[in-house]
Amino acid sequence: MNKSSTNYLKNNLVLTIAVAISTLLATSVKALQVQVSPAKPRLGDTLTVVVTPDAPVAPSNPSITVNEKTYPTFPIAPNKYRAFLPTTPLQKPGTRLLKIEAGEQTKQTSVQIGDRKFPVQRIRLSPGKAGLEATQHELSRVAELKALKTPQKLWNGAFLKPNKGRITTIYGVRRYYNGKFAQDYYHRGVDYAGATGSPVMAPADGRIALVGRVSQGFRVHGNIIGIDHGQGVVTTYLHLSRINVKEGDVVRAGQVIGAVGSTGAVTGPHLHWGLYVQGESVDPTPWRNSKFN
Ligand SMILES: [Zn+2]
Repeated sequence: MNKSSTNYLKNNLVLTIAVAISTLLATSVKALQVQVSPAKPRLGDTLTVVVTPDAPVAPSNPSITVNEKTYPTFPIAPNKYRAFLPTTPLQKPGTRLLKIEAGEQTKQTSVQIGDRKFPVQRIRLSPGKAGLEATQHELSRVAELKALKTPQKLWNGAFLKPNKGRITTIYGVRRYYNGKFAQDYYHRGVDYAGATGSPVMAPADGRIALVGRVSQGFRVHGNIIGIDHGQGVVTTYLHLSRINVKEGDVVRAGQVIGAVGSTGAVTGPHLHWGLYVQGESVDPTPWRNSKFN
């Protein structure tokens, strides 16, 4: 083989590879694109899934199915949609298979959820003292709040601290009662040790979707406020001594909505702050970062 035929073969090979790569690129540009963050999620984190179909999918938004549960996406830009998927300490770490459906287009992708060791509390209950039971009224009102999926995104930017007190109990703490592990229990929020009467602020814009009082049967939650931030994101404020808002009010980030107290099933004054995504309690801490905007 002379030099020019070797060169011919070389050039031909380079051309073939170039064609193959551009074909691959063209296919991937055309296909349904899916991005999942954070890169290394752990139990309690909120997964963000951004879906970009290659063609408009109206009238219905894409949806994402994980473990036989289907979550909605909401538009964030022209032909770009986002879903927030909750993870909790009750789930097992490991692989999650996500099935994305956007009109005629579908795609499957997997996500690795890392383990996280949550602190453990050991609670001793004296015989015959099984703790205060929630009323049906408070359970159903709170369940209604958690089920909200208002399409509009009402918040803007990072969530603020709802109280200036120090954090006494982080999200996800597990419990033993009299030496027995409570399978279904985890601390569904963050506790702030603000003094009685210290202000509770809305951490982000939203609409007041729940105001409940001990006098109405909120025996365990105490005086409570629930804020709907839209797109399946709601927050709760428990054990309040004072409530400054009413249902339907639109609140702004930083606005005082009530005051810390010790109403409901508590041993002392504190604010319990919960953040729910698609009905599940997730760690609110990452939401103090603007990546969820
Ligand atoms: Zn708490």
